Amino acid sequence: MAAEIFYEDDADLSIIQGRKVAVIGYGSQGHAHALNLRDSGVDVRVGLSEGSSSRAKAEAEGLTVKTVAEAAAEADVIMILTPDQVQRTVYADAIQPNLKDGDILLFAHGLNIRFGYIEAPQGVDVAMVAPKGPGHTVRREYEAGRGVPCLVAVEVDASGKAQEIALSYAKAIGGTRAGVIKTTFTEETESDLFGEQAVLCGGMSHLVQYGFETLTEAGYQPEIAYFEVLHELELIVDLMVEGGISKQRWSISDTAEYGDYVSGPRVIDPSVKENMKAVLSDIQDGTFARRFMEDQDAGAPEFKQLREKEEGHPIEATGRELRKLFVWTDSDSDYTEGTAA
Ligand code: NAD
Ligand code: MG
Ligand code: MG
Ligand code: MG
Ligand code: MG
Ligand code: MG
Repeated sequence: MAAEIFYEDDADLSIIQGRKVAVIGYGSQGHAHALNLRDSGVDVRVGLSEGSSSRAKAEAEGLTVKTVAEAAAEADVIMILTPDQVQRTVYADAIQPNLKDGDILLFAHGLNIRFGYIEAPQGVDVAMVAPKGPGHTVRREYEAGRGVPCLVAVEVDASGKAQEIALSYAKAIGGTRAGVIKTTFTEETESDLFGEQAVLCGGMSHLVQYGFETLTEAGYQPEIAYFEVLHELELIVDLMVEGGISKQRWSISDTAEYGDYVSGPRVIDPSVKENMKAVLSDIQDGTFARRFMEDQDAGAPEFKQLREKEEGHPIEATGRELRKLFVWTDSDSDYTEGTAA
């Protein structure tokens, strides 16, 4: 069955323009949603804790900033855009006590609803508007008159209007300009976690690290290894996104294409697919979410230790030096601004 996709004519902007919206958090997604909503003529306020360093940024854009509790109390549409691991605490402390019948809770990722960390009270709708791109792209595309495709899902439809409200919100942030695909919280959460763990982030990072280790351990210069296994990735990925794996294979040399066919399956052999199934199973039964949340609750000892270990991989030091040669690429300081996955 083909996916259900909504465009501009399928969404009524006036619905969200007639509501009071709170955007909780002002990070990668939060800033983009708040600014796009405002520019679409929506009554929006940003909810942040008193001491948040994001307050000044939001105020500098002319946005109204309130505490999370005040924003949730004023608004009847509440989009939760804090990091996933703090959502349930923010929700319990400041949002849930301020919910009333007819309110709608929105999310940009389904983890807390899918695994039961947040449960809305009766009479409150729960829906998702999840842009399939980093917040900075969501803002840039909107300003350019375009949009980033979004996913929309309804978990609880107390009002009977949850989907049209979510679609109206998606229109206000630019999503229906590109297309909004209907999904469920379960499908979005599980497929998003799987994609980032098995392929986009986890799979790719470790594939690159093994490639770098194999070359440098065999005596090749780290700088050369860096170019061959990391730097050129961008060109390959761009081709795949433009025209699929076929376009990528069409563009590369016949030598590279033949090597893809004969050596790719030796590296990514059927055992990798078995490993992927095990990862998916841990996602589906909540094992991954529990491990992540328990570690975060304990002050993230495992997360911090893994981050430090991975940061120490030799490819990072090589890359920092080599990237200085590329004055036109974004500086390393950019990655304090938020993540894409
Ligand atoms: P982020 O880390 O960039 O920003 C989080 C914001 O929440 C910051 O403004 C921070 O100040 C604020 N915050 C942190 N703790 C808080 C607290 N206790 N109370 C109030 N505010 C607090 O987050 P993000 O990457 O934009 O992710 C937000 C949501 O969007 C997540 O559900 C994520 O899965 C989803 N998402 C993100 C992306 C992306 O591009 N980053 C893409 C799709 C979906
Ligand atoms: Mg090459
Ligand atoms: Mg070719
Ligand atoms: Mg982040
Ligand atoms: Mg994702
Ligand atoms: Mg994700």
